[in-house]
Amino acid sequence: MNDVDVVVIGAGAAGLAAAKTLRADGRSVVLLEAMDRIGGRAWTTSEHFGVPFDIGCAWLHAADRNPFLTEAQAANWTLYHHDMNVDHLYYGRRKATEEEEAAMKRADGELARLLESHDSADDRLSSLLAKGHAVRAAATFSGPMDFGKDDDEISIADFRAAADLDPNYFTKEGFGALVARFGADVPVTLSTPVRSIRWDVPGVAVETERGTVRARAAIVTASPAVLAYEEIRFDPVLPPEYEEAFFDLPMGMLTKIPVEIRGTRLGLSPFDDLLIERHARHDIFFLCFPFDLDLMVGFVGGDFAWEMSVAGEAAGIDFVTDRLCGIFGNDVRNHVGRAMMTNWGAERWVRGAYAAARPGKARAREVLTRAVADRIWFAGEHLAGSLIQTCGGARLSGEAAARDVIATLR
Ligand SMILES: Cc1cc2nc3c(=O)[nH]c(=O)nc-3n(C[C@H](O)[C@H](O)[C@H](O)COP(=O)(O)OP(=O)(O)OC[C@H]3O[C@@H](n4cnc5c(N)ncnc54)[C@H](O)[C@@H]3O)c2cc1C
Repeated sequence: MNDVDVVVIGAGAAGLAAAKTLRADGRSVVLLEAMDRIGGRAWTTSEHFGVPFDIGCAWLHAADRNPFLTEAQAANWTLYHHDMNVDHLYYGRRKATEEEEAAMKRADGELARLLESHDSADDRLSSLLAKGHAVRAAATFSGPMDFGKDDDEISIADFRAAADLDPNYFTKEGFGALVARFGADVPVTLSTPVRSIRWDVPGVAVETERGTVRARAAIVTASPAVLAYEEIRFDPVLPPEYEEAFFDLPMGMLTKIPVEIRGTRLGLSPFDDLLIERHARHDIFFLCFPFDLDLMVGFVGGDFAWEMSVAGEAAGIDFVTDRLCGIFGNDVRNHVGRAMMTNWGAERWVRGAYAAARPGKARAREVLTRAVADRIWFAGEHLAGSLIQTCGGARLSGEAAARDVIATLR
């Protein structure tokens, strides 16, 4: 393998963006990717339903600041502006009353005010939540379903630093396909996991089973979980604050369980948002019939999503089908077609959905934005400022790290 200016590790949105920025500046780059495809958590496939389905990211969040939106528009892709409000709210099998739905809408504002005025030492989101259904339901939507963590595992400081992600768009062709299109012109060495990075040499020596690449700098875009599991060894070990930061940014979980429903729309409209509140955060959210496809896309988040991963795909599909039958009647079973369940926890090179700081540890993100010895930079969704956890944010983080490298290597 050749010596280059910069080695980029990981060909997700952050790594592709970093490599493109470096190449545009005339730098030589090697981009190493462990998987046999590019995109990382951005992955569209038609394999399950015969139409593009996003196994990972799907919403183009913060579309007014998201460079992927303009690219989708330029490519003439089918876009839908999705107003993310709960259209149908259930408590178990019971439809919420109009008063309960109105209370939940008010609770969104209440939660925002509580977050704004919070100044106690308790950094857990759960400490903010008043008793009662309404605020709890508002927090389901923003907590486990969005942040991928239960309220007691979410840092208020971290949560508060994340931007409101409106406006949100969907693309029928798939967000993963959009990222693949973005990265199509970048040379990538696939199926090549990086095992270690030596930085006691001039620059860095990045070791893989297929050889070693020497470079002046490395940009590492693997998730903090991959780094906490020491899939990539640093030699010598990193200063302790970096290692701590990997552990202080554990991965949350979001699991999608899309189920084909044929021959009926269950009285729902395309893109309706349906939330079923259950006990102990075993809640489930449905995106109904996106683009008028025969799909009800179930989402579970936080600890429940990890539990569901362990129970397995068949259990997940049964769970979703049973919940739909509980609300719309047993006839739903006759309309169920193909189904699947995502399993990002089992993806060795990701190990979860996206990172969320432990309560009291929101500073971990800032630690990782500092380069190690002007040689090793980190980038990815976990370092995307107010756009943490998003694919657009990951891309911007990769671009920012690349600009920093360019400025340092001059
Ligand atoms: C179920 C789910 C739903 C989501 N929904 C949305 C959404 O609707 N909208 C949104 O904006 N975001 C969403 N996200 C988040 C979004 O997908 C991520 O924030 C974004 O794709 C992360 O990009 P990244 O480049 O930081 O990391 P990744 O995409 O994980 O890229 C890192 C790459 O590094 C590679 N890698 C890891 N270790 C090594 C190694 N040792 N050697 C070489 N390569 C390595 C990995 O294989 C991977 O390809 C979702 C994520 C999930 C899981």
